Amino acid sequence: MGNIVATLCRSCGFKNEFRLGGGRFSYLTNCPVPAINKETLEFENINYFDHKDSGKYLFYSDNDLKGDNYNDKKFSNFDLYFNEEGNYCPSCKAKKLAFRITMYLD
Ligand SMILES: [Zn+2]
Repeated sequence: MGNIVATLCRSCGFKNEFRLGGGRFSYLTNCPVPAINKETLEFENINYFDHKDSGKYLFYSDNDLKGDNYNDKKFSNFDLYFNEEGNYCPSCKAKKLAFRITMYLD
């Protein structure tokens, strides 16, 4: 039920990957999601359950980090929705980061 998602910025070439969603036995307590740390503006892969109310992070499921999702494709984990295109890039700050699921984990 988890995924590995690869990112690629269509503007500056920045790329990394992150884990989305926990495993079969941990999904109720561990839900890794991509986020931006509001203090450092760095990309981090954090547990949504630990930080959803802390106010320290913007999540990529938030509209603040979403731009033009021109191919209109989305994916989700629980009730969190992510766009494939037009996400905020932590390197060049443009909303040009693409997300692609590369692996399914359980
Ligand atoms: Zn970029």
